[in-house]
Order: sequence, then C-alpha cells, then structure tokens
Amino acid sequence: MIEIRDLHKSYRMGSNSLHVLKGINFSVAEGELVSIMGSSGSGKSTLLNILGMLDEADLGSYTLDGVPIKNLNEKIAARYRNKFLGFIFQSFNLISYKNALDNVALPLYYQGIKRGERIEKAMAYLEKVGLADWAGHLPNELSGGQKQRVAIARALASDPKVLLADEPTGALDSKTSYEVMNLIQEINDEGRTILVVTHEPDIAAMTKRIVNLKDGKIIQDTKVNQVRALENV
Ligand code: ADP
Ligand code: MG
Repeated sequence: MIEIRDLHKSYRMGSNSLHVLKGINFSVAEGELVSIMGSSGSGKSTLLNILGMLDEADLGSYTLDGVPIKNLNEKIAARYRNKFLGFIFQSFNLISYKNALDNVALPLYYQGIKRGERIEKAMAYLEKVGLADWAGHLPNELSGGQKQRVAIARALASDPKVLLADEPTGALDSKTSYEVMNLIQEINDEGRTILVVTHEPDIAAMTKRIVNLKDGKIIQDTKVNQVRALENV
C-alpha cells in the first residue's frame, strides 16, 4: 500500500538547513495498523505529511497504492489525496460554523456527490461513530472525544485506502483516548490501513506495529501483540 525508499527531508530557514528525515525506508501493507513513535521534534509529523501528500520529500521515492508520488501538479495531487487518504489531527480541524453532519459531508462535496446523497452518507458515518443524535450540533457543543469521532467520520466519508492520524489522542484524557483508539481499532478490524503518530507508549501498544523514529532515522520497527483499547476503557 505504502512504499518509501531512502526518503530525505530538510527545512531551510534563511542560510540554515535542518535535516529532519535522513533516509527513511519502510513499507506498509494493506490492513496494517502502524504507530509512528518518537520524541517531539523527531520528524513524525514531517513523515506523516509527506505520506499524506501535504508536503514533498527532497530525495527518495514514495509509492502509494502502486502510484509513484512525485512531481504531481496540484490538481492531480488533490485528486489522489481525496481518493487515497483520510486525515485525523490532534486538534480535530472541524469547521466551527458547520454542524457535525455538514463537517462529515464536506469531503463528499469535493467529490462532486449530490447533496441528498452526501447527507445520507454522512449520516451513516456519524452513526458508525455513535454520534447520530449529535448531527445538528456545532463543534463547540461537543466534547473533545465527540469532536474526534466527528473528525474520524469525516476522514472515512471519502472511503480512503489509508487513514493518517497525527496524535489523534493528544488533546484527550486517557479514558477518551482509549475510546478513540477503540474506534480506530474497529475501523482497522474491517481491513482499513491506518497509521497513527503518537508519543504515548500506551497508545502505540494498541496498534499492531511500532515504528520508532530518532534523529530522522527509523531505529526500531517491531510487530507487537495489540492491546485492545476496550480492555482499558
Ligand atoms: P514531531 O512531529 O516528531 O514533533 P516534526 O516533524 O513536526 O516533529 O518536526 C521535526 C523538526 O522539524 C523540528 O525540529 C521542527 O521544529 C522542524 N520543522 C517542522 N516543520 C517545519 C517547517 N515547516 N519549517 C521549519 N522547520 C520545521
Ligand atoms: Mg508532530
């Protein structure tokens, strides 16, 4: 599903250059649930943003579902992003003046789906995350956990091949974090490929494979026996 080879990324600030990713190699097969661990500043978000086609590497190759991701014009990149990828962020990134239903329906708008069908689909995804009764509520009327569930429903709405989550539990208390991880596990149980960036070992233990980043390199990449989040709720 994902194949990256010898990936490098530097940020340039004036005459200075910060080498953040220093030759990353890894592959993710369909159906995996992978966590990317590492201390703050180790390059986790940089890597996830490149995988999410929100940023480009300086060197190396990236293939997503058989498609080489390189030098795509913005229109094609946007189309692939829409088709292949769903995003979940620490800060939810919901649109504050749209209710839960309309937030979930938005990616479907960009896919050119008609309003009636958008609403129907969005409602089905809200049901899936247990929030059908909250469809008409604005984000500021929802708890953190509920907001993240809406964001997960929105990420699923375009039926992406891969879900990319950057610290999805970073703004939540432990109990709520485990509820969100339970949902992520259930979505992965259905076969969806998911990558989760986290710096919390208990969250990483709820995935099936832990990739450790340090100083821009992968220092460890291990399959683990997944802890089920429900056991902790
Ligand atoms: P993590 O997500 O693991 O905390 P990041 O990938 O966000 O790490 O950042 C890695 C390093 O790159 C940090 O030192 C950060 O300050 C720097 N960095 C990240 N984004 C930018 C940017 N757009 N411009 C300059 N430096 C950046
Ligand atoms: Mg980060």
